[in-house]
Amino acid sequence: MTQPRTVLVTGGNRGIGRAIAAEFVRQGHRVAVTARSGEGPEGTLTVRADVTDAASVDAAFTAIEAELGPVEVVVANAGITRDMLLLRMSEDDFEQVIDTNLTGAFRVVKRASKGMLRAKFGRIVLISSVVGLYGGAGQVNYSASKAGLVGMARSLTRELGSRGITANVVAPGFIETDMTDELPAEQQADYKKAIPAGRFATPDEVARVVAWLAGDDAAYISGAVIPVDGGLGMGH
Ligand code: NDP
Repeated sequence: MTQPRTVLVTGGNRGIGRAIAAEFVRQGHRVAVTARSGEGPEGTLTVRADVTDAASVDAAFTAIEAELGPVEVVVANAGITRDMLLLRMSEDDFEQVIDTNLTGAFRVVKRASKGMLRAKFGRIVLISSVVGLYGGAGQVNYSASKAGLVGMARSLTRELGSRGITANVVAPGFIETDMTDELPAEQQADYKKAIPAGRFATPDEVARVVAWLAGDDAAYISGAVIPVDGGLGMGH
């Protein structure tokens, strides 16, 4: 059993982030979530934060540190899509997605690393997507942001690896959340045909992998991309 840690999950009020936060609670950790709206699951501390705003991220960490101690495990989960075919995609559509998914993760990880370096311990988990390396028509912005997280985790590994800090990427495939609910039924059926497992996953199936990566058993795993996609993206 891994010792109790202080964990922060961004975007922990719904979807995959909520399931990740609930799994860490179930495993006995001290868990905080950031949310722009709503609340994290039972047993978590909810703090308001928008990952596109460094001051807001900093204030959230300060509040969590005061309540639960330094953050030892950080899960950069908050993310958005603005799907659009390339010729119709505005620069704003591109930048908003990068600002939330990629620069947002940078803001969160940078702030978390201060305490981790001091403690000589840390677990960084970046929630990417199968689309980061597989690509997706209409997702030039999203795919670029999610691929960027792979380079980020690998650079973090090289920079912080000797200080007891690991940085890994979890790349979910199609997971049953608000994000995939928005897809037209026909598109959902097409995707299911392409997934060897023949189904979408539940958020819990991602959550358990993230919790395992943050635990003692995964201490020697860093810079890895762990797919949770039913075989859709083989070849990562
Ligand atoms: P949801 O749309 O259900 O939830 C997104 C979460 O991100 C919400 O908590 C939302 O907060 C938060 N968020 C969005 N923008 C910001 C922001 N600027 N600042 C702070 N929080 C923000 O998404 P999922 O649970 O489906 O996805 C979670 C992660 O998993 C994302 O990074 C997504 O890209 C990734 N993913 C999802 C897949 C899927 O099939 N669902 C597949 C692969 C990857 P609020 O409620 O306040 O808007």
